[in-house]
Amino acid sequence: MARPDFSRLYIDGEFVPPVGDTQIESIDPATGRVWAAVAAAGEPDVERAATAAHTAFTTGPWPGMTGTERGRLLTELARLIDDDADELARIDSTDNGKPLGHARADAAGAAAWLRYFAGAADKIQGDYIHLSESDWAYTVPQPLGAVAAIIPWNSPVLTAAWKLGPALAAGNTVVLKPSELAPASCLRLAELVDKAGFPPGVINVVPGYGSTAGAALVAHERVAKISFTGSERTAQGIGAVAAHTSKRITTECGGKAPFIVFADADLSAAVDKAVGGGFVNAGQQCTVASRVLVQDECFSEFVDRYVRRAGTLRVGDPADPATEVGAIVSARQQERIEHYIGVARREGAEFRLGGDRHQPGDPRLAGGYFMQPTVLTGVDPASSVCQDEIFGPVVTIAPFSDEDHAVTLANDVRYGLVSGVWTRDIGRAHRVASRLDAGVVWINTYRRLHPAIPYGGFKMSGNGRENGLDALLAYTEQKSVIVDTTPSG
Ligand code: NAD
Repeated sequence: MARPDFSRLYIDGEFVPPVGDTQIESIDPATGRVWAAVAAAGEPDVERAATAAHTAFTTGPWPGMTGTERGRLLTELARLIDDDADELARIDSTDNGKPLGHARADAAGAAAWLRYFAGAADKIQGDYIHLSESDWAYTVPQPLGAVAAIIPWNSPVLTAAWKLGPALAAGNTVVLKPSELAPASCLRLAELVDKAGFPPGVINVVPGYGSTAGAALVAHERVAKISFTGSERTAQGIGAVAAHTSKRITTECGGKAPFIVFADADLSAAVDKAVGGGFVNAGQQCTVASRVLVQDECFSEFVDRYVRRAGTLRVGDPADPATEVGAIVSARQQERIEHYIGVARREGAEFRLGGDRHQPGDPRLAGGYFMQPTVLTGVDPASSVCQDEIFGPVVTIAPFSDEDHAVTLANDVRYGLVSGVWTRDIGRAHRVASRLDAGVVWINTYRRLHPAIPYGGFKMSGNGRENGLDALLAYTEQKSVIVDTTPSG
């Protein structure tokens, strides 16, 4: 494939080379080879982008546009994403190693999320508060200003849409910084933004390294809000910097999701969803069902069935439509996964499946980063294997005795993003849901995401929520106006 051109940043409505002419050599993790040179923003580029976003927020056509007009632009962007979904998917799949079909679903999701917020853009309204016949008050939800959207590598186009949708619907402007590990698709998205006709500066796209472009954005005085998705460690660093400013922050960080199966559950459906949720994107997804908890009575049967099903997963070329588990994003991430597999081995875990690198037959993929789907039992819940987010295809299965035991095990981690509960007992399903430390609980289903449903974490999994109408309010500042209408004199 000819090397595509991603050599320009998108700032103030123009594609421009980075000031320092720095590039990210983006690696195709399925081959281990550089496949694209992507522009890397430095501090001067971030300065330009943040200033452009601030200027577009305060002057020009954007501040004067109605919600309906902003919604129309978002709808047009959604249409262009739908038309371009194959190309966006091809870029993401090559850049981060996820199966093409999953990347295609990300693009379709991005369009759906933008449409949802497009429809909400003209429904943002305040309250009227009657104090007395002459004293009235009303509230005005106002946009914040320039928003920095900082995103990870695992679902770039979809995560970008989760932030662009509410930020723009509410009338803000955005500087989008994709991850240095999968930066290319957001520049393709910038081309669609340009085509959609957004005024210059309303959306700026600046790929770059976290320590330079990301840090410069976080520190920039013109940035009013940081909407971050990524690791807990980066979120903490961003929080520490922003603590000395007036910036608003929302963070979506990692997870270590419990997937709880009671003995009365539909085991076939539970096994199917647990395997699907355990190895989606080779486990590199914050929603991954990495801790399966199964009631004693059906533990061995469940483990057998799970291992049989996981053993059929096709690992390999992300571009092959038959592939279910693609590549690991980087050599470093692969080493991290191997570190946890090593810990499990030293601690005496039982390896029911996998535990090694996967070697694809195709010689073209010989330098790629692939791991076997790995299933472990007999892991101490206090082990780092059960406590840390591995972000790889490593799932532990552990037994529990009763409801209390299940909830204790499920909540015994520092994360609290998503969870699953499988039972036919409706009372128990809701009891357990109410006791789980998790922003999302799926009952007899898993990884069902929708733009209308709030999404975010308890505990170290983050602050604030994305999606749903409340997400719009997180991109606004409420102003209260109180008026005394008594005639003077
Ligand atoms: P990361 O924290 O390393 O990077 C995320 C983004 O932050 C990247 O764009 C990176 O360049 C930037 N960044 C890094 N250092 C920065 C700094 N000092 N200042 C500003 N920006 C900086 O995370 P990652 O490795 O790209 O992604 C994996 C993590 O993301 C996992 O922990 C995963 O669970 C999490 N994640 C969470 C969700 C969610 O919705 N909760 C979704 C996807 C991924």
